[in-house]
Amino acid sequence: MSGFRGTGTRRPYQICKRCIMDTSDPTIRFNADGICNHCHTYDIHVRTLVWTPEQTRVQLTPLIDKIRAEGRGKEYDCLIGVSGGVDSTYLAWKVRELGLRPLAVHMDNGWDAELAVRNIELTLKKLHIDLVTEVLDWDEFRDIQLAFLEASTPDAEIPSDHAIGAVMLDTALKHGIKYILGGSNIRTESCVPAAWSTGVRDWRYIKSVHARFGKIPLLTFPHYSLAKWTFLTTSGRVRRIDLLNCIQYRKSEAMDVLKNQLGWTYYGGKHYESIYTRFFQAVILPQKFGADKRRGHLSALILSGELSRERALEEMKEPPCPADQAREDREFVLKKLGLSEAEFERIMTLPPRSIADYPAYENSLALQTYRAAVRVRRRLMAGVRAASPGPVR
Ligand SMILES: [Zn+2]
Repeated sequence: MSGFRGTGTRRPYQICKRCIMDTSDPTIRFNADGICNHCHTYDIHVRTLVWTPEQTRVQLTPLIDKIRAEGRGKEYDCLIGVSGGVDSTYLAWKVRELGLRPLAVHMDNGWDAELAVRNIELTLKKLHIDLVTEVLDWDEFRDIQLAFLEASTPDAEIPSDHAIGAVMLDTALKHGIKYILGGSNIRTESCVPAAWSTGVRDWRYIKSVHARFGKIPLLTFPHYSLAKWTFLTTSGRVRRIDLLNCIQYRKSEAMDVLKNQLGWTYYGGKHYESIYTRFFQAVILPQKFGADKRRGHLSALILSGELSRERALEEMKEPPCPADQAREDREFVLKKLGLSEAEFERIMTLPPRSIADYPAYENSLALQTYRAAVRVRRRLMAGVRAASPGPVR
């Protein structure tokens, strides 16, 4: 699949013929057959980052044995992050099923839905997993969230995701844990475009937005530099493995396991375990940036064969969350952030901006060159594996 063509910003509406990504992603490209770049990238990621059933059969046990052996004599052999959502809760269940001894970390940023707290407590208790909860300083975090709303980029969730990464790194180092097992996975998360959310490891971006719009100093906010991340992950001090890419992960089966075996309850939407995330994804992103993240989440499920394209299109006819819920969330979010209706309306009418408008690692030539090299390498690897399928050693 090649020959993608880009179009200008005033482009006619177009939707991919294979998934449901469309021109609401301003950077989407289509090939001559009407298939989008997300489908193309998904195929490459599946061939290079996701294990085949044969690879899982041959390679999973040695990997788990290695993690267990390296953790011998320690209280825990791996670290997992838990949000209460499907992927991270299923990961917790899976690592116990595989016989590992994880320590779980939850970051409380002040926006947990009550149900999320209940899900986390219930499932970890049933799985006999110890939990460390890191509570963010609310005044600092609120200041960062307001700064990102003023910055007018679609990346207002980035500070929270960055802080989770920092807390995971610090906890791993503190407890001498080498393996951080992540719940990120290609099959349910691969189609969200960078134009809708970018910069999770970009402390320079978060810092620069806060320096420009923030009002109080950041003294305790968990963060890490790109240099620290690169050093720790390349030197072997910590190793991050997205375990759900190593097993034959299916979201529908995972939800059945969680409901039937752990008494876990669904939230009605991906990442809706956080009230702010639900509000941001259901109200701010669609209304201000024309971006509906469900389009990316459902596209990933179509590509992984879990959902038909027709069913996904039907689902998209419904609002991202019920009107009553959106109203209730709006009132709650504005009150908690200390925003008046007029201030929020002003924020909603600010011209949309992007990470390119602020100092960020993302905008450095060195990082862009590195990313291009990784993309080329992945394409070459995908070609090799397509020609000769089999376990990658
Ligand atoms: Zn597509």
